[in-house]
Amino acid sequence: MYDVLVIGGGNAALCAALMAREAGASVLMLESAPRAWRGGNSQHTRNLRCMHDAPQDVLVDAYPEEEYWQDLLKVTGGLTDEKLARLAIRASSNCRPWMQKHGVRFQPPLSGALHVARTNAFFMGGGKALVNAYYRSAEAMGVKVLYETPVDAIELDEGRFAAARSGERRFEARACVLAAGGFESNREWLREAWGQNDAGEWPADNFLIRGTRFNQGVLLKYMIDAGADVIGDPSQSHCVAIDARAPLYDGGICTRIDCVSLGVVVNRDAERFYDEGEDFWPKRYAIWGRLVAGQPGQIGYSIIDAKAVGRFMPPVFPGTVAGSLPELADKLGLPREQFMRTLSDYNAACRVGTFDHTALDDCHTEGLAPAKTHWARPIDTAPFYGYPLRPGITFTYLGLKVDEHAAVHFGGRPSDNLFVAGEMMAGNVLGKGYTAGVGMSIGTAFGRIAGTRAAAAALEAKQGKHHAAA
Ligand SMILES: Cc1cc2nc3c(=O)[nH]c(=O)nc-3n(C[C@H](O)[C@H](O)[C@H](O)COP(=O)(O)OP(=O)(O)OC[C@H]3O[C@@H](n4cnc5c(N)ncnc54)[C@H](O)[C@@H]3O)c2cc1C
Repeated sequence: MYDVLVIGGGNAALCAALMAREAGASVLMLESAPRAWRGGNSQHTRNLRCMHDAPQDVLVDAYPEEEYWQDLLKVTGGLTDEKLARLAIRASSNCRPWMQKHGVRFQPPLSGALHVARTNAFFMGGGKALVNAYYRSAEAMGVKVLYETPVDAIELDEGRFAAARSGERRFEARACVLAAGGFESNREWLREAWGQNDAGEWPADNFLIRGTRFNQGVLLKYMIDAGADVIGDPSQSHCVAIDARAPLYDGGICTRIDCVSLGVVVNRDAERFYDEGEDFWPKRYAIWGRLVAGQPGQIGYSIIDAKAVGRFMPPVFPGTVAGSLPELADKLGLPREQFMRTLSDYNAACRVGTFDHTALDDCHTEGLAPAKTHWARPIDTAPFYGYPLRPGITFTYLGLKVDEHAAVHFGGRPSDNLFVAGEMMAGNVLGKGYTAGVGMSIGTAFGRIAGTRAAAAALEAKQGKHHAAA
């Protein structure tokens, strides 16, 4: 029998497995994906949000605990557990040497992401390289990994873990860490969570999933049905506007459309519906998925002109190009008259001051609803471009309630050998909203805690048996 069973194969699972192994436990990991697709959503990541009081290799200036906490408080609107949030924040200040020991390398951000040079440490080679480094290290340390092993049931004995089942196979262990992600890849569950809108549409049918197809929420559902304490709202998730032409799964970061703040966004009726210049794009990009989800047909179109080109990270799919605005409307299949009315009204309302995309500048509209409060310049210079937008789900926030030891709770009581980490519990810290890089901070902090605790529980159980036998 293994000491610790880790279920999942992404960042949280790997952090747990490595810590448990370092603590002297024998470890078995069960990953539902085949080897080529291992690593869950973690393989798509780029960076980790890190607290630091002074410059640290790739991180400039300082990003103190209080500022990090305030940022989190703001985006979650208070839907966060301060104790657990501060724990994750503090852990982000000292986890990087451990990550480096296991082969993770960091680099300064590339030019398109300079605004996060202070707050976020970027992984050299992205999340794929991070995941590969952790697997290499885990295997070298003797962690056993079984791929294509989706766990579908957990045997519990009054809140204690006994075994996990994958079809006919049964895996016993002295302790267990659940790190099997959220339920974002489960389209049926998303449909149920989002429900029907007033127009009779099922908005989630038009969502795309930015990450892995393997986070089906099977374990989360199993644990909820088994009476584990739950946190979070199933309809809350990190949801951004991505290119409507992206694949259903695993499009990753290159399907993001980052030109929204440089132009206007219209719905399929060719009407604007939100202030595109409300705040810096990195702070605002996570609200646009939900905004597009609220539009008829769950589709939007980001419209820019030649002046915007070169000012944003080019998307992977080329935009629809036209020499005139009416031609662009036709090519995008938008009602031409309304499109021209929307664009003319917007162009006429622009009060251009000193355009500066790196500051909340003074280019705004006047007398227009909704207003565009920054970076408002007329869309008047050919060629014109349009990019179709769909809601892209990053990850869901419904999860299992934990304490600072990452223990799964049943009726308010912590299990003494069952732990949970990563997306499966991120809702304790992120009730809603998002700030870039915090997903990996939470997964790394709680993955490491869960692994350490699981090893301690397993070794204690082993010693207990020893004593009983002696
Ligand atoms: C495109 C994209 C970009 C992102 N960029 C960032 C970023 O730069 N910074 C950041 O902090 N966050 C980012 N995130 C969020 C981040 O990916 C998650 O917060 C983090 O990876 C969660 O880690 P995890 O280990 O909990 O889940 P995952 O990495 O998703 O791992 C879950 C694992 O569980 C496995 N699994 C699922 N069900 C079962 C089962 N029943 N049995 C066995 N195994 C199972 C899956 O195969 C997978 O390996 C991004 C997400 C996406 C989609």
